[in-house]
Amino acid sequence: MKLVLEGKAKKIFQSENKSYYIQYFKDSATAFNNKKKRDFNKKGIINNLISSDIFIYLNKNNIRTHFVKKISEREQLIKKVDIIPVEVVVRNYAAGSLVKRLAIKKGKKLKTPLIEFYFKCDELDDPFISDDHITLLNLANRDDIKKIKKVSIKINNLLIKYFRKINFILVDYKLEFGILNKKIILADEISPDSCRLWDIKTKISFDKDIFRENKGNLLKSYNEIIKRLKIEVKNV
Ligand code: UDP
Repeated sequence: MKLVLEGKAKKIFQSENKSYYIQYFKDSATAFNNKKKRDFNKKGIINNLISSDIFIYLNKNNIRTHFVKKISEREQLIKKVDIIPVEVVVRNYAAGSLVKRLAIKKGKKLKTPLIEFYFKCDELDDPFISDDHITLLNLANRDDIKKIKKVSIKINNLLIKYFRKINFILVDYKLEFGILNKKIILADEISPDSCRLWDIKTKISFDKDIFRENKGNLLKSYNEIIKRLKIEVKNV
């Protein structure tokens, strides 16, 4: 298989059909723009299970996504889209960079969900950008930005419900979108690598903050998500 792209936690391969790619989940975890790195045995398998489950749920709820199907332990068949190089962060509670930048108390529930944009650019450390910066840099047009905000809110309502059912608070997370046939399509992954998930009662993290902040056992926590979702697993 021809490698098209290798990212920090995933690889993208060309598939036989030119309209599709194969997305492969690796075991590596990175934080602080690659300054901290570690492999966690089988993390890729777990994230593929969780991300596939979430994308199946979103597809069923009429969100347009790039996800076609899970094809192996570490692989998904996905539609080829033109990725918009903008990270869309959706926040329901204050945490992470929001707390650092604006001194909002960690854990404070936000009045309404907050949508933020970051320019996907490692050399610049993914800077925070506004709608005007997005159009200035020709990353997306006004109409697409409007559509991205609208669908992000829809996705947020669905994901809050999805995680509340299994006793997690969805604090914040990152989405990526692409364009296919002029339509906005949800792409990339949604996994505990790209979300903050806190247990409803204890407020303990079950996400990549365990690795960022050296607290707890990352694989054990990711496996607990699988258990609560009742995803059927072989040998993880
Ligand atoms: N996030 C991500 N990839 C990034 C940056 C952020 O998946 O490159 C996720 C992160 O896991 C968290 C949310 O987006 O769930 C908000 O992250 P934040 O801006 O607070 O930055 P961080 O604290 O991760 O540096």
